[in-house]
Amino acid sequence: MNAIEIEVDTDRCVGGGQCVIVAPEIFGQGDDGIVTVLRLPRPDEVAAVREAVVLCPGAVLALHGADEESAPDGG
Ligand code: SF4
Repeated sequence: MNAIEIEVDTDRCVGGGQCVIVAPEIFGQGDDGIVTVLRLPRPDEVAAVREAVVLCPGAVLALHGADEESAPDGG
């Protein structure tokens, strides 16, 4: 069983809130608009987190340790 981990590079966050729209249980925004991680996703919420990773315009988010994780960019 893998531990799920969300990596956030806040320096790149532009505060648009796409992640909050698709996964409001997991992502929030501070007063400055910068993303915050509220908690780790349950298994049924992983898909929404994965969608947030894809939609994020700043490539701020990364999901690690989730089953069926794919890394198309190869690092
Ligand atoms: S979608 Fe990306 S850039 Fe936009 S608020 Fe979320 S983490 Fe920041």
